[in-house]
Amino acid sequence: MDRKKNIYHQLLNSTTQHLEDLKSRGIAYLPISTHSLKNLSRTPSGSQSQPAFSLSEKSSRGHTPASEKNATSPVVAAPAIRPRHAPDFPAKQPEQNQTADLPEKTRDEKIAALRVKALSCRKCPNLVRARKNVVFGVGDIHADLMFIGEAPGADEDRMGEPFVGKAGQILTKIIGAMGFSRQTVYIANVLKCRPDTPDKPYGNRKPTQEEMHTCLPYLNAQIDLIQPKVVVALGATALQGLLGTTSGISRLRGKFQDFKSISLMPTFHPSYVLRAESNPTEAAVIKRQVWEDMLQVMEHLNCPISAKQRGYFLPKNN
Ligand code: SF4
Repeated sequence: MDRKKNIYHQLLNSTTQHLEDLKSRGIAYLPISTHSLKNLSRTPSGSQSQPAFSLSEKSSRGHTPASEKNATSPVVAAPAIRPRHAPDFPAKQPEQNQTADLPEKTRDEKIAALRVKALSCRKCPNLVRARKNVVFGVGDIHADLMFIGEAPGADEDRMGEPFVGKAGQILTKIIGAMGFSRQTVYIANVLKCRPDTPDKPYGNRKPTQEEMHTCLPYLNAQIDLIQPKVVVALGATALQGLLGTTSGISRLRGKFQDFKSISLMPTFHPSYVLRAESNPTEAAVIKRQVWEDMLQVMEHLNCPISAKQRGYFLPKNN
């Protein structure tokens, strides 16, 4: 009996650590099966020979068993855990989010319900056939700052999380340079499923206007619930999906736009920064342009900005 209880507590500790690790990487929700949810409600007993639930169960970063991929499964929130490494600048901005008085449970529950709905969405049959995961979004649902890209790529589709590939690493660096982290902002895409590429097994394609239009209600609902103070649109396609504009990103970047009464800052997509890296001079110019856009965002959010931050990517620092 004691040995079984020890095993139970070891498994419980391992599970808690695993959840903490997921949480530190910005994963706030874990879809789990009804069967596991029932097991979770049981108290440990000497007759139990299995853990409350398996760590190999699907997570938002892992593969989803085919039998459950599109099931409307319950969602549980991971425990509230602070990021392990505090950023150099305040993670939360001084002013309260507009919905700070909204009962926290209400927002959490509504986001969780929306997530469940998106995970089981089948509105785009071609994307449903090709996808591995629905990439809903990640980060703090109370964030003042939201980054929005166009659609998941292969890495994101595999991991179930937005911006985890090479372009995602650039975005993570930008967010860090601003004094935030992936856990203190919210990151999502206009399209929640990876655009399929039936003619080739690799590469990414831009989402069509129709696909973005079909999926946009999910993002609009996310924005309505999170109510960030600033939305950063990453790249021309995201901007087109959000504003319906065909104006080029080069023309609109760096100029705040109005989107649902929220300040929207268009800037280049991180993959554009990545592509430019073969030409260091061009890359430095693009990085500085993106950074100037982010400085405007920081000013808009009343973030403290150091002289060092103001000087990032200026010629003297290269
Ligand atoms: S892209 Fe959006 S609308 Fe289309 S199936 Fe995926 S979640 Fe549904």
